[in-house]
Amino acid sequence: MRWRDRRYRSWRPASRSAENNVASRTRIGVLAYQGDVEEHLEALRAAAKKIKKDVGVVPVRTKQDLAGLAGLIIPGGESTTLYKLCRREGLFEDMKRIPNIFGTCAGAIMLSKAVGNKMAGQETLGLMDIEVERNSYGRQSESFEADIETALGDMHAIFIRAPRITKVAKDVKVLAEYDGEVIACEQESKGKYYLALSFHPELTTTLFHEHFLRRVYRV
Ligand code: GLN
Repeated sequence: MRWRDRRYRSWRPASRSAENNVASRTRIGVLAYQGDVEEHLEALRAAAKKIKKDVGVVPVRTKQDLAGLAGLIIPGGESTTLYKLCRREGLFEDMKRIPNIFGTCAGAIMLSKAVGNKMAGQETLGLMDIEVERNSYGRQSESFEADIETALGDMHAIFIRAPRITKVAKDVKVLAEYDGEVIACEQESKGKYYLALSFHPELTTTLFHEHFLRRVYRV
């Protein structure tokens, strides 16, 4: 009888607390249709370690994957394709409810309220008060790299058929400029937080992922 009691006692509390941990763990998703999905997942894991937070990092492809996320990263890729896949999977409305979103390149296009050089019928989430111009730096062959200064520190930045952030509203905070133009900015309003970059941080640094996580945790 002794072993039975012991087993019972140790089994129940352990199972309950394990469940609670999973349920209460902050989860951040990475939209996983195309682009640097693995690199963003890896950068998020590294950033979580640096700021000492236990973050659940999840690739997102379906409505179910979006449920309960504290934050979402929309990677670069092709905004016209991203929009079609998000529409096909019925993600738009659920994505709009996520409290913290970080968009890089095509992801920044997805966040913006106004887009220049838009494909006919192309939609965005329209969450952030910025205007962007698709493919504004030119074609693929005009992609470039640069050492940049940002509010988070110096870093190397890679621009791949990047959009130009052409206008930002008054309450949008600029975090970096290059050649006199905004390349990183953030907006916080009504409990929502959005971060948009025209380049690809996941290839060179975790500084923006750390910054995003700090905003998710409001620390
Ligand atoms: N040119 C792409 C678009 O319009 C963005 C490029 C990128 O994400 N690297 O979506």
